[in-house]
Amino acid sequence: MTDNKPVAHRTPNFSAGPATIPTQVLERAQDELLDWQGRGVSVMEVSHRSKEYLAITEKAEAKLRSLMAIPDNYKVLFLQGGGSLQFSAIPLNLLKDGHADYLTTGTWSAKAIKEARRYEALGLGEVVEVATGKASSFTDVPAQSEWKLSDNAAYFHYCANETIHGVQIFEPPKVDVPLVVDMSSCILSQPIDVSDYGMIYAGAQKNIGPAGLVIVIIRDDLLGQASEWCPLLMNYTHQVEKESMSNTPATYSWYLAGLVFDWLEEQGGIEAIGNINAQKAELLYKTIDDSEFYHNSVATKHRSIMNVPFTLKDSELDKVFLEESEKAGLLHLKGHREVGGMRASIYNAVSLEWVQQLVDFMKDFEKKYG
Ligand code: PMP
Repeated sequence: MTDNKPVAHRTPNFSAGPATIPTQVLERAQDELLDWQGRGVSVMEVSHRSKEYLAITEKAEAKLRSLMAIPDNYKVLFLQGGGSLQFSAIPLNLLKDGHADYLTTGTWSAKAIKEARRYEALGLGEVVEVATGKASSFTDVPAQSEWKLSDNAAYFHYCANETIHGVQIFEPPKVDVPLVVDMSSCILSQPIDVSDYGMIYAGAQKNIGPAGLVIVIIRDDLLGQASEWCPLLMNYTHQVEKESMSNTPATYSWYLAGLVFDWLEEQGGIEAIGNINAQKAELLYKTIDDSEFYHNSVATKHRSIMNVPFTLKDSELDKVFLEESEKAGLLHLKGHREVGGMRASIYNAVSLEWVQQLVDFMKDFEKKYG
């Protein structure tokens, strides 16, 4: 990032989240840890309302706006409570006693609708599941022609990338109501047109930085209609007024997110990182498809470029695969307990070289046991 220090050795880490953070970012944070800006204090130790800290938050927002080309009629919030608290906040802010459409394509979108249904039970609005993938497997997205869209929904919610099942929706659905999208595991991984969406939200611990932060990007016209029951901290309009500082924010995570945005800019921005992400995904899926030994069952056009689940021909070998991969210095390849098998999460900070090392290991493993 700044100096000529040798880059530290870092072990290839395919964790789904909290996930690997760019080495240069961690080095910069390390350099500044004890003595930030020559002040003899760490950034963690200063008031979130100090002008020095506010300079960090302003810069982080400006960088994110520039990276994602966020139009001026969108507000950007840096909140807490992870992606999951947004499942609760969204209906409270946007349902307006009306109804909303939800598409279920995996565990996370299923959790989102389940949470929204709590408000239905309280009589605060209705929730319609327009379609659901095969709950037993979630390997595809139901075709839009099969969705049972309701009339005049307040919004349409979906998850752009199902982290557990590796199912990604690349194009924003074409519906007449504001799209509310969970981009927790794919934000900043490819160029998108923010103006296609009413609201985008993403937990930080994959492509943004450490856990403890969730980013909400919301169009102006969706503000100002929260339910009177909406807790203040979850009220987007209130948080806009308070510039995400209704209470003490996750200051260190916010600072690190800013460093990740700097790093992303240095990589050439989202288009450049998107090209590398495409190469990484192609390399891994090709290795899986070319073999009789590995398998990924997600419909080709919905295969995630961020989370690649795969199984071995013989699940008895799962344990061996995990032990040997770890010995080979490839970390966190265990699939989520809901689906089993393996999963390689290949977020922005996972290099093409790391994916190449993984692929080389997979080929060797197949030779040995296939
Ligand atoms: N949505 C998606 C797509 C996720 O992957 C996750 C977490 N892995 C969440 C929501 C929930 O995020 P959190 O744990 O930050 O609440």
